Amino acid sequence: MTAADAALATALHAGERRALAKAITLVESTRPQDRPWADALLATLAPHTGGAVRLGISGVPGVGKSTFIEALGLYLIARGHRLAVLAVDPSSQRTGGSILGDKTRMELLSREPAAFIRPSPSGGSLGGVASRTRESLLLCEAAGYDVVLVETVGVGQSETAVAGMVDCFLLLQLPNAGDELQALKKGVVELADLIVINKADSNPQAAALAKSQFEVALHLLHPASPNWSVPVLTASALQHQGIGDVWDAVRRFHATLTGSGELATKRAHQSVSWLWTLIGEALQGGFRGHPAVAAALDGVTAAVVAGEITPTAACQRLMTLYRPGR
Ligand code: GDP
Repeated sequence: MTAADAALATALHAGERRALAKAITLVESTRPQDRPWADALLATLAPHTGGAVRLGISGVPGVGKSTFIEALGLYLIARGHRLAVLAVDPSSQRTGGSILGDKTRMELLSREPAAFIRPSPSGGSLGGVASRTRESLLLCEAAGYDVVLVETVGVGQSETAVAGMVDCFLLLQLPNAGDELQALKKGVVELADLIVINKADSNPQAAALAKSQFEVALHLLHPASPNWSVPVLTASALQHQGIGDVWDAVRRFHATLTGSGELATKRAHQSVSWLWTLIGEALQGGFRGHPAVAAALDGVTAAVVAGEITPTAACQRLMTLYRPGR
């Protein structure tokens, strides 16, 4: 590690925002020559990571995620916390359209010195985006942020990816009858440690009904922890109502799982699972890049598409090219 790299690590650990932003840019870089630098920085800072409450926030577009994050963020900062907000949005592009990319979102929060807001890394596979966000999360912890929120778009597999990197997964829902069934179908509710019916101000009765419907539905699910039953709360992010109760529930969840040892186990499982994701990606990269495999891949794929050979036979043929001895 050069003196400049050590200086970056020191400035980041001292909580300097510009150093954190620079370090995140480095871990997000897709230039191969930046990787050893990023790895060295992460290794240096590793002893300072792990100290934050890692909170995932999901919900369909329009449910009020950014409004909620702003309300929760301002609530936390008023109580002396330092808050980092990250996002996982594999569809995002540098040119716009990404969650957190729009400057008008979280306008008040973004002006707070104790808040650090970073848009989703852009482009690439979900695995790549998620991996870079995990590293950014560690950097935020090393910079002294004691709460890290990770927002997800609320569609597709990004929710599973975010649930796999946070301690507590919070699902925002609308007070519309029927929506909760849709969420149940998608299996997202099974990921949730906490459910919040937002926009309760717009229709308190519907919110109360949705709350009780969720409570019934949750009874049918197998609980992820024997020590935690998923609470369903109502809130209004717009009117800053119910935010304190949500935070109390998050803290209760964290304390419960810390006390039982489940949090340490959960984080360990998440790390091992991340490791295997990376191994899988590295092996696939090596496989695709292998000259004999690369030369045959299009033809074999076309044969599978045409139904001439089965995927199993195609795989064996390619594996023989990859490792001829077998
Ligand atoms: P996101 O797409 O999930 O990030 O949702 P936004 O935070 O952008 O909110 C979508 C719309 O819902 C905006 O017009 C918000 O002002 C509105 N909204 C968010 N939270 C609430 C709430 O608690 N009550 C009401 N009535 N509107 C809300």
